[in-house]
Amino acid sequence: MKSKLQVMKFGGTSVGDASCIARAAQIVAEAARENAVVAVVSAMSGVTNRLVEAATRAGAGDAEAGSSLVEALRRQHHEALATLVSSEAAPSGVASRVDDVLAEGQRLFSGTALLRELTPRSLDAISSLGERLCAPIFAAAVSALGVRGEAMEATDLIVTDSYHGGAEPLMDMTQQRCEARLLPLLKENCVPVATGFIGATREGTLTTLGRGGSDYSATILGAALNADEVIIWTDVDGVLTADPRLVPDARTIPEISYREAAELAYFGAKVLHPKTLRAVMPAGIPVWIRNSFAPERPGTKISPLGRSIGGGVKALTAIRDVALISVGGPGIVGVPDVVGRTFSTTAEVRANVLLISQSSSQNDICFIVAAADAQRTLEALHREFAQDLSHQVVDHITVAPNIAIVAVVGENMRGTPGVAGRTFNCLGRENVNIIAIAQGSSETNISFVVQDTAMKQALLATHREFALAGGNER
Ligand code: ADP
Ligand code: ASP
Ligand code: MG
Repeated sequence: MKSKLQVMKFGGTSVGDASCIARAAQIVAEAARENAVVAVVSAMSGVTNRLVEAATRAGAGDAEAGSSLVEALRRQHHEALATLVSSEAAPSGVASRVDDVLAEGQRLFSGTALLRELTPRSLDAISSLGERLCAPIFAAAVSALGVRGEAMEATDLIVTDSYHGGAEPLMDMTQQRCEARLLPLLKENCVPVATGFIGATREGTLTTLGRGGSDYSATILGAALNADEVIIWTDVDGVLTADPRLVPDARTIPEISYREAAELAYFGAKVLHPKTLRAVMPAGIPVWIRNSFAPERPGTKISPLGRSIGGGVKALTAIRDVALISVGGPGIVGVPDVVGRTFSTTAEVRANVLLISQSSSQNDICFIVAAADAQRTLEALHREFAQDLSHQVVDHITVAPNIAIVAVVGENMRGTPGVAGRTFNCLGRENVNIIAIAQGSSETNISFVVQDTAMKQALLATHREFALAGGNER
């Protein structure tokens, strides 16, 4: 009997080329000697972006974009396979499995270009090719290390609703499938290597969980199998106090709670897909974030309660590519349904509202949506409030682009007076203009809106203010 069951996910950079796959396969093979291991793999880095771009061009009638990408992917994946496993040792069928996926890709691109129409369903089918190409190669690399690896398409494991581009798992059915398909393999000491990012509806139509969704795949499988832990292997040492690309002296947080990590993910920390923790919360399964390029480092443990060290600021995060929409004017004072109508309109157009702020006199409601949703939302609001605008009950509905949300995150900040004061003081000293502010009643985060050009300065100043690079007790 193996000591525990681990689900290990490897992100795009961790499977970026043959040497990365070799390193990742080594991690899996070593763990599999002691534990039952299910691996989940992303597409090789950059592949999903290239697929989406070619799909968009095919939708505009360009047949060539898809064909040349299919050939480039053929070279890239066969080259990686040949480097990882000598052709005599390669389990028969891996190369032809790669070719079958590519042939399917070619058909999808040709069909899309012919019809000049890219439906959400075909976009999902095309976006999924990267994971489907990577899993057989990864499984072969694991097998070459003496532990049997078996590639599995997550369309056979994760049952979802039919919301293309952001599907949600149906956990009961997913659990049944996972138990039926994965447990027998684990009993035979085999490592199933599942494609991240994808699932399928009950009827078998392929769906994706949303960009960056392989993290979510890993926790869905972890929950379905009631795993002991989920390990997300990536290209940084764990969850850091801020995005290291923006704050160079950010440092790794050893342990963090579900709530804090979820808050960071929600407000843009790319290291975790925002939905990742949803799947493991009910069972309290711990999730580790670790560096596949430095597996000797401990990484970050995300657990239900984190480490109990009192309150205070743990980390910062920021979301760019958002827009601030404001609805208002003196005329809306006393009109009771403006708030309700505003947010039923955002819900109708499926715009995700990231932050809301309302002035107390009620003459202005402002909220943030992703930049991609802004135009659609604005048009819908203009339709909804057409009459009120013509009677000047509402005198403006405006959108401000090029802004960013910065969030200061830490459990129980209410136990630490002065966090908000210190945040806004230090921003004032740096001349960072704050456009809007929100603090949830849980007091796990304070978030504020600034011009995109001031975001980095806001992060650096706050990181310094709370000594997140070290030197204080968090
Ligand atoms: P993967 O391909 O493994 O899924 P991602 O690129 O999606 O990796 O996520 C890892 C990246 O997230 C890091 O390289 C880092 O730049 C970024 N990141 C943003 N905020 C944070 C944070 N607070 N802690 C760690 N990494 C962060
Ligand atoms: N390959 C997918 C993406 O790039 C999923 C993932 O990597 O998590 O969005
Ligand atoms: Mg990711």
